[in-house]
Amino acid sequence: MEKICDHLKAKGLKQTRHRLTILSLLKNAEYPLSADEIYLQLKNESINLSTVYRNLELLGEKDLVLKLNLSGDSRTVYEYNSPVHRHYLVCLGCKKILPIEHCPLSGYEERLADETGYAIVGHKLDVYGYCPACRKNEKKPGF
Ligand SMILES: [Zn+2]
Ligand SMILES: [Zn+2]
Repeated sequence: MEKICDHLKAKGLKQTRHRLTILSLLKNAEYPLSADEIYLQLKNESINLSTVYRNLELLGEKDLVLKLNLSGDSRTVYEYNSPVHRHYLVCLGCKKILPIEHCPLSGYEERLADETGYAIVGHKLDVYGYCPACRKNEKKPGF
């Protein structure tokens, strides 16, 4: 298994406890987390919010962490930059984020490359709607 501290070393970053903690938290997270959520989960680590932001910026500059603005979610969220990319389903009501297991566009990319002669390097896809819990609450508009 790849080690997180090796990632930091490879990018020339000092392996501080905070960096290791933030990176392993994001690596194990089911879905991208906001800086606030990361801060809340690390309450016991005596870290402050500005340190969280500073480290996220740094990890982002080194491409270890991806900064995302998902449609339907006004927050900036962060995800571990894994070689297997993921897509997410965002609830417009409660902002819950659900990972989508399989990329629906991998076959399409190949076909598009064949048709156009382009070398396709990536794509973005956000899906959004209302989760079952929010759908039960009929007072909310937009259903
Ligand atoms: Zn919801
Ligand atoms: Zn995809």
